[in-house]
Amino acid sequence: MSHQDKQPQEAATHFGYQNVSGAEKVRRVMGVFSSVASQYDIMNDLMSGGMHRLWKRRMIATATVGAGSRVLYVAAGSGDVAIGLARKMGPSGRVVLTDLNGPMLAEGARRVIDAGLLPGRADCIQSDGTRLAFADNSFDCVTIAFGIRNFLDIEAGLAEFYRVLRPGGQFVCLEFSRPVLPGLDVIYDAYSFNIIPLLGEKVAGDRESYQYLVESIRRFPDQQRFARLIERAGFDLVRHENMTGGVVALHRGYKV
Ligand code: SAM
Repeated sequence: MSHQDKQPQEAATHFGYQNVSGAEKVRRVMGVFSSVASQYDIMNDLMSGGMHRLWKRRMIATATVGAGSRVLYVAAGSGDVAIGLARKMGPSGRVVLTDLNGPMLAEGARRVIDAGLLPGRADCIQSDGTRLAFADNSFDCVTIAFGIRNFLDIEAGLAEFYRVLRPGGQFVCLEFSRPVLPGLDVIYDAYSFNIIPLLGEKVAGDRESYQYLVESIRRFPDQQRFARLIERAGFDLVRHENMTGGVVALHRGYKV
């Protein structure tokens, strides 16, 4: 069988630094998020020193949504960005949270219910980001934060985001990237490989999941390579801005 004949689930890929089959990667990624779901928010605050809130605030400010907008939040997890987007849009806006992982989406649903957004201003629909359960051209804005790094097929995800976005719509993606400040990479590596797995072990009782987190960040394309993948999926006016010296990058593009 040629390489092209292989189904993505059969082809060799990676889970962090380990080589695994596609099916095994999806199984393990889902295992990670099922395991961390209940501790997810507290771990984000601890690991980033609260900075993930500032990165997400900037993402929400960048999303060109307003009254009456319909926005998709892919790989929604515990849904904090969705709540910010809903508040920005006001009562006539609608945010759809989607995630492949049931326990993570349940956390998101709990949060949007607590925020008074469900029913009416939010929906939660379990769906694979690489095979979205939504019609073509059905959203004004498609957003994803710290999710696409975990996909088996990043390009398939980007193609799906393009498909469900209406012409004129905006794509916004927040993701870990590469430090660009001199010397920051050394400090960041030391922190990531020594402290984060330890925090995972002590706080969430799960060292392996946080080891995966660190490794998956290193395997993800850097700012420029990821921007090229976004362009290749069909998006125009692709731009990115670095945050915290490039630890995180906020990408955006448009379907014209
Ligand atoms: N967006 C949230 C945030 O910023 O806090 C959650 C990010 S969490 C690091 C990654 C999320 O991606 C998890 O909820 C996981 O279940 C989801 N995910 C992983 N692979 C996915 C896929 N193929 N389709 C949809 N969601 C996926």
